[in-house]
Amino acid sequence: MMRLPEVRVHVPASLAEAVALHSRHPGALYLAGGTDLIPNLKHRLYDTSDLISLSRILPVGVAVADGEVSLGAGSLLVDLIEDPALRTHLPALAEALALVAGPLHRNRATLGGNVMLDTRCLYYNQTPAWRAALGHCLKKDGDFCHVIGSGKRCVAARANDSAPLLMALDAQLDFLTAAGPLVVPIRRLYAIDGRFPGHCHTPPSALLTGIRVPAPRGLRRATYRKVRRRAAIDFPQLGVAVALEQDEVGRTASLVVVLGALMPEPRLVKQLDFALGRGLDDTVIDRVAAVAAEQAHPQESIHGSSDWRKEVTAVETRRALHSLRVPIGR
Ligand SMILES: Cc1cc2nc3c(=O)[nH]c(=O)nc-3n(C[C@H](O)[C@H](O)[C@H](O)COP(=O)(O)OP(=O)(O)OC[C@H]3O[C@@H](n4cnc5c(N)ncnc54)[C@H](O)[C@@H]3O)c2cc1C
Ligand code: SF4
Repeated sequence: MMRLPEVRVHVPASLAEAVALHSRHPGALYLAGGTDLIPNLKHRLYDTSDLISLSRILPVGVAVADGEVSLGAGSLLVDLIEDPALRTHLPALAEALALVAGPLHRNRATLGGNVMLDTRCLYYNQTPAWRAALGHCLKKDGDFCHVIGSGKRCVAARANDSAPLLMALDAQLDFLTAAGPLVVPIRRLYAIDGRFPGHCHTPPSALLTGIRVPAPRGLRRATYRKVRRRAAIDFPQLGVAVALEQDEVGRTASLVVVLGALMPEPRLVKQLDFALGRGLDDTVIDRVAAVAAEQAHPQESIHGSSDWRKEVTAVETRRALHSLRVPIGR
């Protein structure tokens, strides 16, 4: 049986007190639903002796105002999945959250914890004995990456299902830090190095309080497709998020494709301008899928070979676009 290390759990009464506690205990970690943090502590992945509980202090729920959908970082995934406002305004996000882990996790897990999730790796998310037997790695206690075969950087996977879609939808993140409030566009949150801490471009005290997404306008639609080994519970081996806006006759006004779970930073696919101002026919879809696969560089830090996940990137991008398109001149 894996046991928790000895930790002190601080229970602040307000967000400000939580951040102040972090300043007094700089190595402390915020504890939301604990569905990832607790197993990681049991695996001795963090050298902390202080947890700061976020229960009852984080904002929860969904509000729609001023052209934005605002989501409390403390909202439970199970509540968001069923939330009528979210299902009306951002159905793709509700559907993506329904694909996170298994039902018991979703009953406890928060959206904030999902956005701020640590990166994952086959050589890291293991017991201390397992890691010691192989030789420790750059992410914890070592100086070598078993995936890339050098000590340059950690390429553990950013395997949180909310990230690609929130990036495609251009979400803004509201943090409270020791220096005051901080707004970070999610497209600039994730670092290219997966080491913890440091995998997010935020100060260590940064407490995520809310997520704001522009409310859909016109014919904007979005979707998220997830590839995993077992549909009942597993992390993604690949996530493809697409946000598409077409005019009333089916011409593409904007198109964003984001690839997740391939490396520490979700990848915003570039050079898709050729798809704008025209219908999304099969030829365009095939070309977008080919560009996405070309720009995908899957690291073998999680299950599934790099070649296979690259091929599947094209397949899932194509499927996502087919599911969203309005035929030209409909
Ligand atoms: C078996 C298993 C399967 C899983 N499958 C998936 C999956 O398919 N997809 C997926 O996305 N996730 C998966 N997870 C991971 C996890 O369950 C979810 O990502 C969940 O949403 C995490 O939320 P939480 O509230 O439990 O976060 P916690 O575990 O409490 O925290 C996660 C991390 O975020 C930090 N944190 C939490 N809240 C905040 C905040 N408000 N501000 C700043 N930092 C914060 C914590 O310090 C910690 O580092 C899985 C986990 C397990 C154990
Ligand atoms: S990608 Fe490399 S450095 Fe990062 S956790 Fe895996 S083995 Fe360690």
